[in-house]
Amino acid sequence: MKKHIAILGSTGSIGVQALNVIENHPDHFEVEVLTANWNSELLIRQAVKHRPKAVVIADKEKYQVVSDALSYLGITVMAGEEQVAEAACLSDIDMVLIAIVGYAGLLPSVKAIQAGKDIALANKETLVIAGELITCMAQENNVSIIPVDSEHSAIFQCMAGEDMSRVEKIYLTASGGPFRGKSLEFLRNVTRREALTHPNWSMGEKITIDSASMMNKGLEVIEARWLFGLSPDQIDVIVHPQSVIHSMVQFVDGSMKAQMGLPDMKLPIQYALAWPERLKSSFRRFSFTDYPNLSFEKPDYEVFRNLTLAFEALARGGNIPCALNAANEVAVKAFLQNRIRFTDMPVMIEKAINRIHFISEPSLSDYISTDQETRIITSEFIQT
Ligand code: NAD
Ligand code: MG
Repeated sequence: MKKHIAILGSTGSIGVQALNVIENHPDHFEVEVLTANWNSELLIRQAVKHRPKAVVIADKEKYQVVSDALSYLGITVMAGEEQVAEAACLSDIDMVLIAIVGYAGLLPSVKAIQAGKDIALANKETLVIAGELITCMAQENNVSIIPVDSEHSAIFQCMAGEDMSRVEKIYLTASGGPFRGKSLEFLRNVTRREALTHPNWSMGEKITIDSASMMNKGLEVIEARWLFGLSPDQIDVIVHPQSVIHSMVQFVDGSMKAQMGLPDMKLPIQYALAWPERLKSSFRRFSFTDYPNLSFEKPDYEVFRNLTLAFEALARGGNIPCALNAANEVAVKAFLQNRIRFTDMPVMIEKAINRIHFISEPSLSDYISTDQETRIITSEFIQT
């Protein structure tokens, strides 16, 4: 039996690699739906090759060009952000890969869970914004959320055959990004180009900046809290520049398990799509002699203040992690547009989350309004 997959965000870094995994396992997977934000050209090429039942382009202005290229193949073409979420609910779909970046992944995740679809989750922002709501909703709808993020895939793989109640703590590994070991003074003057150069991973722009600022690790701490039902003090971050240990679990008897491999997102993507199976692959194999030294160090919570802000947001709970995410998205965009300095990002984020009205048990509409308000507040700080 083939698994029928919808890929939301098929034109991004994760989406493209997922299609590559699927292409190598034609007996296991069938592509049902592909969606993109604006890249109609790539979406069309992907659809011609993989022949999904439906495609969605979020940018409505691109509808005609996509429709002209694909309708004659019998592919249903839709446009608009709401249609992206709707397409995840089509009846034949078994699993939805959420490979959209940022807040835009939230509502499609909600819709797919409500429709009872299993989720392969790359979009960590969904769990940062509304982790409690999403995990409760998944339980109620009997939906599995399988992590794609490499650290969370590592923890998930270490947990196979284990009981969550026997976990003492987990260690999320962090590469440290391009600015590991640098001072605050150095960070003040880093350029967009320098921040977009990651030593170990090739990814979309937003997550690459998050990795350079360590916000990515902060978001991942919050993601792990909800995925694995851990308390914040059970989650630790350790910098491991070689990125071959993808994360570790420490059990109540002191035993530790680590999951290792070369830094290649295709591996966790394939694991999530195939779960609960483990498929063969021809990915390059790890060689110990290529990595004679694996090293570990504490993160610098003062220079990489975003990591501290994320732990604080998690401790405060309610709608604060949602505000953290929104402020970060606005700050990253402003940095990418050369409107603020790299070191302005945590300053803007902290100011914004301190201005947000605290809601202890937010509903979905509270999350939506917190996101909107935080964006406005952060944009105002950036302009002044
Ligand atoms: P990307 O920028 O390369 O791709 C983003 C995708 O989302 C594109 O297909 C784009 O069309 C779509 N998209 C963007 N905005 C949209 C909108 N408003 N409506 C509909 N679709 C929209 O990003 P990426 O690097 O592939 O990351 C995707 C997600 O996976 C992020 O949440 C990221 O944190 C997570 N992730 C990525 C990696 C990686 O190696 N790239 C690793 C771990 C986790
Ligand atoms: Mg990660």
